[in-house]
Amino acid sequence: MKLENTTFKTPIHEITSLYSTDNQIFFKRDDLQPFSFGGNKVRIARKIIEHMYATGCDTLITYGNKRSNLCRVTTNMCAALGIKCYMISITDDDHGLKKAFNGEMAHLFGAQVIQCEKSEVDATVAKVKEKIVKEGGVPYYINEGDAVINQASTYVDVYNEIMEQSKEFGGFDYIFCASGSGTTQAGLTIGKLLNSDTAEAPKVVGISIARVKERGLLKLNEHINGYFAKNNITNIPAERISEEINLATEYLCGGYSLHTDEIRNACTQMLAVNGIELDTTYTGKAYVGCEKYLKDNNIKGKKVLFVHTGGLPLFFDLMNEF
Ligand SMILES: *Cc1c(COP(=O)(O)O)cnc(C)c1O
Repeated sequence: MKLENTTFKTPIHEITSLYSTDNQIFFKRDDLQPFSFGGNKVRIARKIIEHMYATGCDTLITYGNKRSNLCRVTTNMCAALGIKCYMISITDDDHGLKKAFNGEMAHLFGAQVIQCEKSEVDATVAKVKEKIVKEGGVPYYINEGDAVINQASTYVDVYNEIMEQSKEFGGFDYIFCASGSGTTQAGLTIGKLLNSDTAEAPKVVGISIARVKERGLLKLNEHINGYFAKNNITNIPAERISEEINLATEYLCGGYSLHTDEIRNACTQMLAVNGIELDTTYTGKAYVGCEKYLKDNNIKGKKVLFVHTGGLPLFFDLMNEF
């Protein structure tokens, strides 16, 4: 497998809204990325591996939980490229969940899975690094400093891809995405800030699927300011940055992976109506949040792009529950 064949430019098309909206809703189908069931994590994992190689490292330490799409894709990519891989699997967010296809697959791909609680992550990572070094390897941990900043650049590229594609549709007024770690939203927001002289640029809105406002904004600021500092971009005033960070936390349903019957129904209805999968943790929750945001803010007659960030195995977790 060649790393450059794992991602491509994904299509944008209009969908039939599940709500009586006065807007046109379009999906950018990043769920169709051609590797490991697709999604934003394919683009991000490719950046991670490229950065790992560029920094002279050879053993990946990935991080997530049973539901983590990032862990599925990174462990799969490591298997495909013959890279040794450790997965730090956190147990806190499980809400009694026994099994999830993503977690099962990480085992299948031969990653060494190490379970711990969130409070033990730093100590566990330190131990794993020590082990790797002792065995002659050079560890690369995805969640620190430069690695994190590098990941934010992924969706800067996608913002530019969207702007190129949007001409065909006469431009978009909004770009919505699910916001978890904030990597995707931060990238899109940086893309917009770097092109802020572009007339009628779309408003980027993240629907928080895990974080409350304060923590969500803190992390987005870290991503964005980290990116600008790293790339020596100094001409964007702080007010412009805070102006462009739009994180909606009203549709959280209490926290990560928690959801309502309305979200469950949207996941199955979206498949019935448009033939597109959504899941209750990320895309389904964010799609319902997007529609509610439009209604709550009395937004009408606009062209709205929702970035479908993937997560297909989570749709099958939902099917398993029925
Ligand atoms: C990780 C993930 C997100 C959230 O992306 P972040 O960049 O972490 O905010 C959204 N949707 C799916 C399907 C994901 O796996």
